[in-house]
Amino acid sequence: MKLWILFGPPGAGKGTQGDLLKERHQMCKLSTGDMLRRHIQTGTPLGKKIQAVVDAGHLVSDEILLELVREGIEEAGDREILLDGYPRNVAQAEALDTFFPAQVGAVFHLVVDEAALIERLSGRRLCPTCKRIYHVVTHPPKISGGCDDCPGSALVQREDDREDRIRVRLAIYERETAPVRDFYRKQGLCYDVQADGSVETVCSRLTDIWEKIQSVANTPRQTE
Ligand code: ADP
Ligand code: ADP
Repeated sequence: MKLWILFGPPGAGKGTQGDLLKERHQMCKLSTGDMLRRHIQTGTPLGKKIQAVVDAGHLVSDEILLELVREGIEEAGDREILLDGYPRNVAQAEALDTFFPAQVGAVFHLVVDEAALIERLSGRRLCPTCKRIYHVVTHPPKISGGCDDCPGSALVQREDDREDRIRVRLAIYERETAPVRDFYRKQGLCYDVQADGSVETVCSRLTDIWEKIQSVANTPRQTE
């Protein structure tokens, strides 16, 4: 089992790239945002507890996230796992190291400038049924407002994708989440990936790096 972390600010394209990589490389994707939204949507006790925090764009407690992530990783068994949305602060990165030591294969840091992030987030729409990610301009559905894969399902805008919440989330990212990059950089695990091209371009950049890391890991060491 290896953990591959999709990292970057809200709107960088983690979910979009995670869905593509999952499909093309048969990996298991764990998106903490999706997990939390599923609890909110189905009205579980956890969903009721966290809804206001998520809608406001703040971070949910580390204890809740660790439990969700541990459960998800354990359920995935031996499969390669893509983590989207975790870790979100240094304490979460340390917890991951404690419970799954030396399992992080790489951290892919998706780099996008702030103006593009705001455009991406304000135009993001989701299918509430299959969770497919759309954008009103760059990735619109075939029929306006509907999901290509789920007949009758109307796309929704996330509460936390409203303009005032976007600013809150970007500020929290800079303060709490960005230091996670340095945590992994010091371990030689962080790769910066320009994420401002098309979805396909970004996906091939990620795949190239991922394949290189794997080929180095699989090359037998020379003995004297
Ligand atoms: P994140 O998971 O990092 O918050 P998403 O994958 O949900 O980001 O993408 C945010 C929005 O940007 C979505 O509406 C998505 O369709 C759009 N998007 C993602 N990647 C690109 C890209 N390379 N170019 C243009 N739009 C993109
Ligand atoms: P985005 O990729 O657009 O930033 P996510 O879908 O990853 O958004 O997360 C949405 C919200 O879910 C976050 O703003 C936060 O409230 C909560 N959340 C997701 N992952 C975590 C985490 N690792 N720690 C704390 N809160 C989280």
